[in-house]
Amino acid sequence: MSKLQIKSETLAMLALAAIAILLPSIAEAKKLNVITATTDLAVLTQEVGGDRVNAESMARGYQDPHFVEAKPSFLLKLRQADLLIVVGLQLEIGWLPPLITQSGNARIQPGANGYLDASQFAEILDIPTGQVTRAMGDVHPLGNPHYWLDPDNGRRIAKGIAGKLGEADQANAAYFQERFQDFDKRLTAAEQKWDATMKPYRGRKVVTYHNSFPNFAKHFGLNVIGYVEPRPGIPPTPSHTIELIGLMKKENCKVILVEPYFDLKTPNSVAAQTGGKVVQYLPSVGGEKEVTDYFKLFDYDIDLLSKAFQATQ
Ligand SMILES: [Zn+2]
Repeated sequence: MSKLQIKSETLAMLALAAIAILLPSIAEAKKLNVITATTDLAVLTQEVGGDRVNAESMARGYQDPHFVEAKPSFLLKLRQADLLIVVGLQLEIGWLPPLITQSGNARIQPGANGYLDASQFAEILDIPTGQVTRAMGDVHPLGNPHYWLDPDNGRRIAKGIAGKLGEADQANAAYFQERFQDFDKRLTAAEQKWDATMKPYRGRKVVTYHNSFPNFAKHFGLNVIGYVEPRPGIPPTPSHTIELIGLMKKENCKVILVEPYFDLKTPNSVAAQTGGKVVQYLPSVGGEKEVTDYFKLFDYDIDLLSKAFQATQ
């Protein structure tokens, strides 16, 4: 055995030892890369994914999720994603499909294993029974995609995502299930608090700007009697606004809910003529800086709403 041989054998052994030490930490550091269409899906993914998942949203919480401006950074993130989670029901039809195609990432194409449509887990309202035509405005033909504002849907979506994460990373499947159980418990406790706060206002009538509130209204027993938009996606018209004012007076409805990305001019003039109150509610996490998770979203909106109902008794 030459000196050189001993040296190379020793080196090989050292190299193997180094790999053996490094490997577990590489495995630990490998997190699932999840990209979501909206912030709400990102925070629900993070709830169940914990530190084994990196979840990031393309849309910001204060943006209209129907019309998100595509950024080059989206493509980069889509290219590297293990999993893409969308709201579905055509909410993102105006901006997301070309990005998915252009990403060239086979894992996240619709129908592939890394593409998850969260609507399959949720209770969906407003499913049209007749034929949907252009004349109806921007009606979502598969049902209302603004379904995440019911905590029961949040629970169902989180459960579905936990299952999907477990398929993508089987070694951590039990961890994701435990995380879901914990989320479920915290959500149930929060729901009891929210339900109690909203209980005195059951049956109250509200108007919303866009039809993005039906699941929240159903859960908390509110009654949405009209919309500032004459039809979904169509800006207010004078004739519709006059009708809406008449309806609110007749029904004694005093609260107008407006998403943060809509103009306040028409809602303010409706409020002025009906003695009503405009409430800028948040449809999504991140709509305001302090609203950083799914729980804070309901805390924020329920606080606003209960105050508005009190003020317009
Ligand atoms: Zn919509």
